[in-house]
Amino acid sequence: MSEEVKTPEVKAAPAASTPEVKAAPTSNDRRPARPAATGDRRPARKPAGARGRFQRRRKFCKFCADKTMHIDHKDPVLLGQFVTERYKILPSRVTGTCAKHQRALTTAIKRARVLALMSFTPLHHG
Ligand SMILES: [Zn+2]
Repeated sequence: MSEEVKTPEVKAAPAASTPEVKAAPTSNDRRPARPAATGDRRPARKPAGARGRFQRRRKFCKFCADKTMHIDHKDPVLLGQFVTERYKILPSRVTGTCAKHQRALTTAIKRARVLALMSFTPLHHG
């Protein structure tokens, strides 16, 4: 059982719940004498609209959504959307790409790198 004491009427400052029942200095008694159980003492629920300030859009796999899009290692413009500015491959948890297409994408990016269509690093100039 918790030690919290039910105050019969909560007016202000519910956080600092100063119990009406004075705490006995002789701590012989574990539980302070509590008044009759009121029954509903739930924590205040948040209103339904207050859940999250940001409405995040659902991620989706671009290649599943658009069947005409084709993952091609000879298309560095497309593959460039799935790498960071330091040419690291973005994880699917960021882009929302599904597992099947993420596999194809990583293979394509790696092939494009070998063919020098994409950079391995931003350090290559010219
Ligand atoms: Zn997909």
